[in-house]
Amino acid sequence: MSKSKIWLSSPHMGGTEFDYVQNAFDTNWIAPVGPHIKLFEDELSKKSRNYSVAALSSGTAAIHLALILLGISDGDEVLCSSFTFSASANPIVYQRAKPIFIDSEHDTWNICPDKLEEAIQSRLKVGNKPKAIIVVHLYGMPAKMNEITAVASKFGIPVIEDAAEGLGSTYFNEPLGTLSDIGIFSFNGNKIITTSSGGALISSNDDYIKKAKYLSTQARDDAPHYEHSNIGFNYRLSNICAAIGLGQLEVLDKRVKQRRSNYSFYKKVLSQSDKIQFLNEPDGFYSNRWLTTILLADYDSREKIRLALAEENIESRPLWKPMHLQPIFKDCLFFGDGICNELYKRGLCLPSGSNLNESDLNRTTKAILDNV
Ligand SMILES: *Cc1c(COP(=O)(O)O)cnc(C)c1O
Repeated sequence: MSKSKIWLSSPHMGGTEFDYVQNAFDTNWIAPVGPHIKLFEDELSKKSRNYSVAALSSGTAAIHLALILLGISDGDEVLCSSFTFSASANPIVYQRAKPIFIDSEHDTWNICPDKLEEAIQSRLKVGNKPKAIIVVHLYGMPAKMNEITAVASKFGIPVIEDAAEGLGSTYFNEPLGTLSDIGIFSFNGNKIITTSSGGALISSNDDYIKKAKYLSTQARDDAPHYEHSNIGFNYRLSNICAAIGLGQLEVLDKRVKQRRSNYSFYKKVLSQSDKIQFLNEPDGFYSNRWLTTILLADYDSREKIRLALAEENIESRPLWKPMHLQPIFKDCLFFGDGICNELYKRGLCLPSGSNLNESDLNRTTKAILDNV
């Protein structure tokens, strides 16, 4: 008998999603327009310091529009955390701009403020002022925003927060996504809440959000016919997806608690071994613990555990492979000492879904402890 699959992070419906979807069907709003989109934006805004929100088709689309709003175009340099998913950096290339990657720091694994400043100084010396900074809150852990925004404002460079993994996390009590010029979220199937596929752009600047809505709906000017003075995109969230999102937002706080409780369980049980390290929250940092991550001594011990889990039909995954190590970005500049290279080699993401039960968690920790 094969053992049931334990997933890394699978969708977890709260129960009311289908009622919202039913209502969308009943009212025939089966389109990327409709009342559920506005309701979803309003609810998300309430959780995000009442900032303005544009609901979009993906987190990637949101990052792309954020770069367009900041005027990023041909040849511009954009600083980005190297330790992230490729979707943080790909939109830089969509704009024919150049990514420059920055290393992580040890406390949060996110972009290092010192290396960030070093990179800016170095580019200024050759007469190239970077046009934007993309900060990622990886695995839900807030980046050091005070230090980062201090560097950014010293040089007058706008900041985009990629909070795709960080919905529900807070930094000194303020929600992620609201700590810079523009924030983005993702509602992909594996994220802390999902609309199956979806994303959002948020900002305290209403003009950005108005423009994002315009660009995401094919940039139609105000006219009875179709009139276009800009290149637009088909990036708006579907009303059906927004309906799912309304149900999911109702359980966001619960999902954060459940994911944090997974982390606590893993930490408690796996601390029996002194070979497993966890990423603690610095004071004032509150992580949604989207994924629980561990560090092993080296690559081989990481792989041993990953393969042992796979043998038990348990999905785990190495930490993100840094962007400056990716074939497609091999020619890009990188500032740092390779802290993220090391994290990638030694780190593993454990099953972290809010729908895991005690037996799933016990199966996972047993397989780890037997192989560490
Ligand atoms: C998921 C993710 C994205 C992209 O979001 P999509 O909705 O899948 O397009 C961007 N950045 C990070 C860090 C992510 O984890």
